[in-house]
This record gives sequence, structure tokens and C-alpha cells, in this order.
Amino acid sequence: MYSCVRTLSLCGLTGREIRVEADMSEGLPVFEMVGYLGGEVKEARERVRTALKNSGVILPPKRITVNLSPADIKKSGTSYDLAVAVSLLKLLKKIPEDAGEGMVIIGELGLSGEVLGVNGVLPMLIEAKGLGINSCLVPADNIAEASAVEGMRSAGIHSIKEAEEFFGSGNFIQEDIGDEKQGDGRPEYNVDFAEVNGQESAKRAMEIAAAGMHNILLIGPPGSGKTMLAKRLPTILPELAPDERMEVTKIYSVAGLIKPGQGLIRSRPFVAPHHTISSAAMAGGGTIPRPGECSLSHRGVLFLDELPEFSRSTLEILRQPMEDKEVTIARAAASYTYPADFLLCAAMNPCKCGYYPDRSRCRCTDTDVQNYLGRISGPLLDRIDICAEASRIEYKDISSRDENESSAEIRKRVEKAVLMQQKRYEGTGIRFNSDIGVKDIDRYCHLGRKEEKLMREAFDRIGLSARAYHRLIRVARTIADLEGAEEISCAHLSEAIGFRSLDRRYWNG
Ligand SMILES: [Zn+2]
Repeated sequence: MYSCVRTLSLCGLTGREIRVEADMSEGLPVFEMVGYLGGEVKEARERVRTALKNSGVILPPKRITVNLSPADIKKSGTSYDLAVAVSLLKLLKKIPEDAGEGMVIIGELGLSGEVLGVNGVLPMLIEAKGLGINSCLVPADNIAEASAVEGMRSAGIHSIKEAEEFFGSGNFIQEDIGDEKQGDGRPEYNVDFAEVNGQESAKRAMEIAAAGMHNILLIGPPGSGKTMLAKRLPTILPELAPDERMEVTKIYSVAGLIKPGQGLIRSRPFVAPHHTISSAAMAGGGTIPRPGECSLSHRGVLFLDELPEFSRSTLEILRQPMEDKEVTIARAAASYTYPADFLLCAAMNPCKCGYYPDRSRCRCTDTDVQNYLGRISGPLLDRIDICAEASRIEYKDISSRDENESSAEIRKRVEKAVLMQQKRYEGTGIRFNSDIGVKDIDRYCHLGRKEEKLMREAFDRIGLSARAYHRLIRVARTIADLEGAEEISCAHLSEAIGFRSLDRRYWNG
């Protein structure tokens, strides 16, 4: 006697179909599982047997073999349990012979027979959809996630008993997922730019960063409000596009960060790791690598406060994702790739005591200052588009509260600039000005004669690297877009040069 059902395995964000075959024959009573299994999957045998027993299904004293194929994929994790149990229910004729045909079955089992939620349901089901599979049986905890996959009929169950009922009736228990859970509408924030007094130039820099998704470094003395500014960046970011929501949710799903009942993520991530973070936690680590902080900030903000306090190796690890917009982690069994396209927002004091270049207060020697600033490597600095200064708060800033612009007002301008970019880059794969490749710069960032001359002078005067030069032009493109201008003017370039030359003041001053 033989039965077969389908499930999926996940490597990074890509899934592969796994067939769970069960066979029963006469012979010594034994229940075994084969097929290149990792530790947790080997243990599935005991979990499944006990869960079935506690659901009223006793395995007969026969020779029962379950095989997970193909044999070239190492199976790890606990998400195969339910499929194994269903293959046995079929084998024992507890459910119809054609049960589970044309569908995938995903879920972990508890010893009592309950079905527990698992990580990675969304990427698995997207993969299943690609294989032409249109229905699935998943844990009830994952049903909101499953419902986010368009055209996938999903049934969410709590126990093996419910699985039996489902296969008996064939009714899809499509839970009613309201718009709320599907992630429509704007996210709400409990902070707002209206609370930040003064800091007009830093706020302007944040607006430009948000509009073109440019990396930004905030530099200034302690207490100048750098962290306060950074925390408000998400409130002015453009909304996540539907495909971006899917991408972000896939990563959070694999990382096990989707709450039961939660559907698509609707706000851009804001991830702020502490400076003691290890490079493995930044890039992604573990035997089966889990997405790191730089992937969890995909399509959102990676905020590094106290940038020079991060270890050099942690900062170096950011170079690959900042260039390739993804992270690859190699393991003996396979290599895992996770997307990591984030806006880097970093904040730092200009020196150890925090008051350089205010020599009346800074007590550091020149060497101290250079050593401190030197912790940020040139290549990393080169990948930062905008360097903005947060200045010491003055009395007039503390007292002026009324005329501060709100996040909603700033966001309106950002959204207009984003709309211009969407129109310009339709069908090109480019989303924001910061994504323009070097070969496309001339095409999308055309400069007139006057503008060319200005750039030539700036290039010589502030000694730009080629990479920095291109970044500057991309920022100027965003400044023009914020103004609704198709052509980049000298004024746009000058403002961009201002953001670029600020870092020279500290690093080459
Ligand atoms: Zn100092």
C-alpha cells in the first residue's frame, strides 16, 4: 500500500517541491523515515506517531516507511510534520484516496495532535503557485499569510482532527481576512517631524533621502537630536508598493517574525541594531542562515546610531549589500541569498567628546579626532549620498514650536517626487533615483552646458571619486524631482554638492 502528498522545502527565499511518500507492508513492525533528513526531521517520526495516537489514530503493527524526496535536498525544520501525518492518514484510509491531490501541505505538529504555525509559509506558497499548485493546507496561525497569495485557495487548521474533517468535506475554511489584515491604508506612527524644533537643514536632508531612498549620515554633537530625526524618517517614506510588501513579508516570514494572524506587512521596516551587534547578526547567520538585520531592513531603513562604535568587521560586511542589494551566505549544504536593499541612515558624533569642530568645547587632539573619524572607512563613506549636520539646539529652537512642518506635509512632497520617478522609470526595474546604474546616469540625469561646467569645477575642487560623483548627480536628480523639475539645474547640483562637501570638512579638513 502506498500514498503520496506534496509539501515544500525552503532554501533562503526559494522553495522546492518535496514529495512525501508512505508505504506499508507486512514484516517486522517498524516506522521509519528516510530521505536525507536533518535532526528535527528525524525526530518528526516520534512527533507524528504521538500526535496521531492522541488524535485517535494508532499505527498498525506493520512495516511503515516514509520517504521524503528528492534525496539531493537536505530537509531541515519541522514544517514537514503535517504532510507526513496526512500521508499516513491516507495510507490507513482514514481520509479519501485522492486527499491532498493538487495541493501542498505545510505545518508542524504538537504531541497532542495540534497543528502549529511555521516560518516561511509565504515564500513557500509563492513557490507552489509557480509550480501550478493552487491550494494548500496550512496551520491556522499562518492563514492570513497564506491568503496574501493571490489565487491560492487555503485552508487553515488547528489539529489533525480538523485535517481529517477537511479532507472528508473538502470545504476550504477560507477565513474572512479584512482589508485591515491585508495591509491596505497608511501605517500610523507615534512620532512626527512636527516635534523637531529647528534643524531645518537636517530635516531638508531627510526629505531628500526619503524621496530618492538615498543613504544618509547625520553628524553633530550629543543632544543635537540626530536620533530624534532618524526615528522620524519612516514617517515621510513613500508607501510600500504591493510587490514590495510581498518581498518584505517573505523575509519576515522566513525569519519567523510574522505574528499569528498577520497578513502582509504594510509599513517600511525601520531596523536599529545596537552597536554591539555581530557581523553574523548583521548579514544573517546560523546553520540554516536566518535573514540578518540588513535583510530585515529591506525596502526600509537600517539605522546605525553611534556609527563609529560598530566593529569594523560589521561595517565592512555592509559593503556587499550596499552594492549588490542582496546578501549571500555560504554554507556547506547550500548558499543562501536574501535581498537587502535598504536606506542606510547613520548618526555619529564628530569626535569622542562630541564637540569637534567647536574648539571651545572639544578637548580632543587632532590625532584623536582623526582616529575617531577614521573608524568609518573611505569605501563606506563613498556609499553615503548625503552627509548632513545636526547642529546644537539654540534657545530660539526650543521656544519655537508652532511653525514646525508635520510629517504629513513633508510626505506629500516626497510622494510627488516618487510619482515622478515611477513615471520616468516605468518598466526599467529602477524604483528610486538611488538605483540608477552608472550606464544610465546620462540618460536620466542629463546636464546642460552650464551644469556640466559646475560639475567639472566641483570635481576638481572637492576631489570627488567617480563613485561619489555619480552619487551626487543622483541626489541632484531627487532634488529636481522634489521641485517637479524635469531638468537638473545648477541650483539642484549646488545643493547636492553641499551635502557632499560636508563630509570633506570632517574627513579631509
Ligand atoms: Zn572632541
